Amino acid sequence: MAIKKVKVDHNLCIGCGNCQAVAPKAFELKDGQSYVKENWREESEENIRAAKEGCPVQAISLEED
Ligand code: SF4
Repeated sequence: MAIKKVKVDHNLCIGCGNCQAVAPKAFELKDGQSYVKENWREESEENIRAAKEGCPVQAISLEED
């Protein structure tokens, strides 16, 4: 399974910063919210999955093929 798309639900994100710490090439915090970076594919899938698992409010979702 390869990650096709990464999404952050901004109704859920509380801006804790965990995803940015775990996968800094994929996520960046702006104004208290996490955003998926344009070049998120430069991040390892392992780190992106770890960021998803580590999100305290399950705001990160992945589309896979
Ligand atoms: S880990 Fe979850 S709640 Fe924390 S900043 Fe990232 S998306 Fe938002």
